[in-house]
Amino acid sequence: MKQIIVLATRNKGKTREINALLKGSPIEIKNLDDFGPIPEVIEDGETFDDNAYKKASFTAKILGYPAMADDSGLCVEALDGAPGVYSARYAGDNASDADNVKKMLNDLEGKKNRNAAFKCVIFIAVPTGAALTYEGECKGILTKEPIGDNGFGYDPLFFYPEFNKTFAQLTIKEKGQVSHRGKALKEIAGEIDKIIKWIDMNMPIFQPVECKGDKS
Ligand code: IMP
Repeated sequence: MKQIIVLATRNKGKTREINALLKGSPIEIKNLDDFGPIPEVIEDGETFDDNAYKKASFTAKILGYPAMADDSGLCVEALDGAPGVYSARYAGDNASDADNVKKMLNDLEGKKNRNAAFKCVIFIAVPTGAALTYEGECKGILTKEPIGDNGFGYDPLFFYPEFNKTFAQLTIKEKGQVSHRGKALKEIAGEIDKIIKWIDMNMPIFQPVECKGDKS
């Protein structure tokens, strides 16, 4: 039987990428939509580590399965590393990808330095709170207008010089070869057998409750 790991996200773009990159691994990926309603995790950490650990450990505790969470974002040199952990909410609490892209273009208007990096931290946690962590980074240059229709978030602005394309012009497979998330997932895929053994050793053992009159 395959080891179940729950992806602690409702972000469809991330889920698509993670599923594609872990395809063929000896694990069965579920996501939050495979379960009933569960409380929302408040992402109030100041670092990618804080938020990724919080999402993974909370989900593992609530659902009783090992859980994997990614916290990621765009760090822009000319904005002193912003929006970083606030990337999803850059243009406001319920901002759409298009709102964030628009705000980024406005904030960078007239700036010569358009260097940026996507960063990603992934935690795999079990219900006791024990966890493993992986990370990846990818450097690029922000364009002056959105280019391409694939991907999500800031992909249409993220020009990757080696491919001479923005991330939104790449297929999931191409993006996964070089992206921040792709690099972290490659490491995970490379040691998946070790991770499954670690999960096995760290999953709590649930004792059956004794019941009077129960002969089984
Ligand atoms: P999180 O759910 O708090 O990790 O939000 C991450 C946010 O960072 C996303 O909503 C995007 O705005 C941005 N982001 C992270 N990874 C990517 C990526 O691969 N492409 C484009 N934007 C990304």
